[in-house]
Amino acid sequence: MADYRKMWEELGMDLETHDQLCEVLPQAFGDVYLSQENRPESMDYYNMVVADIHGIRPAELVAAQKTGTKVFGTFCVYVPDEVIVASGAIATGLCGGSQFWVPGGEKVLPTNTCPLIKASVGARLDATCPFFRIADMYIGETTCDGKKKAWEILGEDVPIHVMDLPQMKRAKDIKAWEDEILTLKDVVEKETGNTVTFESLKDSIELINNKRRALERLYNLRKNENVPISGRDVLLISQIAFYDDPGRFTQMTNKLCDELEKRVQDGVSVCQSGDKRIMITGTPMAVPNWKLHQIIETTGGIVVCEETCTGTRYFEHLVDENSNTFEGQVEALAERYMNINCACFTPNEGRIEDILRLAKEYKVDGIIDVNLKFCNLYDTEGYLVERGMREANIPVLGIETDYTDSDASQLRTRIGAFMEMLR
Ligand code: SF4
Ligand code: SF4
Repeated sequence: MADYRKMWEELGMDLETHDQLCEVLPQAFGDVYLSQENRPESMDYYNMVVADIHGIRPAELVAAQKTGTKVFGTFCVYVPDEVIVASGAIATGLCGGSQFWVPGGEKVLPTNTCPLIKASVGARLDATCPFFRIADMYIGETTCDGKKKAWEILGEDVPIHVMDLPQMKRAKDIKAWEDEILTLKDVVEKETGNTVTFESLKDSIELINNKRRALERLYNLRKNENVPISGRDVLLISQIAFYDDPGRFTQMTNKLCDELEKRVQDGVSVCQSGDKRIMITGTPMAVPNWKLHQIIETTGGIVVCEETCTGTRYFEHLVDENSNTFEGQVEALAERYMNINCACFTPNEGRIEDILRLAKEYKVDGIIDVNLKFCNLYDTEGYLVERGMREANIPVLGIETDYTDSDASQLRTRIGAFMEMLR
């Protein structure tokens, strides 16, 4: 492993505290990932990326910055990477998924804030994540109250632009999102000094669509009876998708899919007969939050689909590539992004329709509706989601959790009982 200490130092990181994080991550990764049997060989790429998560990609970003490229950090699947990429800049996901960063967030945020927000704020303010240090500008959004207020606090430390996401999906809301996308274009143009053109946007739409196509191909392979890859591995790939170079990520994911297609043909499966096919729905799972997948897949289940922002919400629906004008491209972007069904919208029946559709497509035996503690939006919508599933006779288990391991044994008991019930 290369020595990145000099880079971290130059990024103004707190090296001593960061060392503590570097000590625990390999153990956690080994326990969850390397302990699996019969993993696809092409997972080596993702293993390498995550083993050096604070080294390889950050070094690439720093090298790009030295040549004048700007880096934008994002926190939500509604922010269109296409616009950022079309300005010659790099977009990187910044959501924090580790308990390690939560106490840092709690220094400035109420304890009853969701761990994703607390970890994201803590990672920046405690200077223990290179990605949070590297980004020249953050792009926030007005999805939930916790985030809205967090941007004000983060904005005192780092330049931030907040996109005003409508919370309904009427024609005028889609138009309003189009305007917000145009404002984002102005912001990235000002920051980069480059112009977003019809051609550059066309290229970036294709680039990001290709990433979506690769993820969709990967997900489709999980629909097979012989599941060729574990849910844990797919979660890791989805998490890496947020910060890897999009072209390389697409190439490596298609390579993995070639291997998985061969596995399907040869009848190779990662699960035992009798394992229950589980779909997860709910709040996002930012890296390195692997807790729930690990528990499910060691209690007789196999995760075959995630209706989350680190799952289908990230890649479903392509941006129309056939627009002949710049205005048409922006309209196509607004339409694609407003097709995502996050609980911050009202009404949000589309999400329940999505879950029912996915349950059928992935032939799931049961659904686990997971809520990050203190996420009021998904918690409240959980009532409607779980009722919808019961009405469709799909077994569902509602779970609330955070980034700590304190509830792991209780979760294991509840999930184990759910698997028993499915049998
Ligand atoms: S859950 Fe909602 S707010 Fe969070 S990343 Fe997804 S779309 Fe954005
Ligand atoms: S999980 Fe809920 S509370 Fe947390 S950032 Fe997403 S929408 Fe907001």
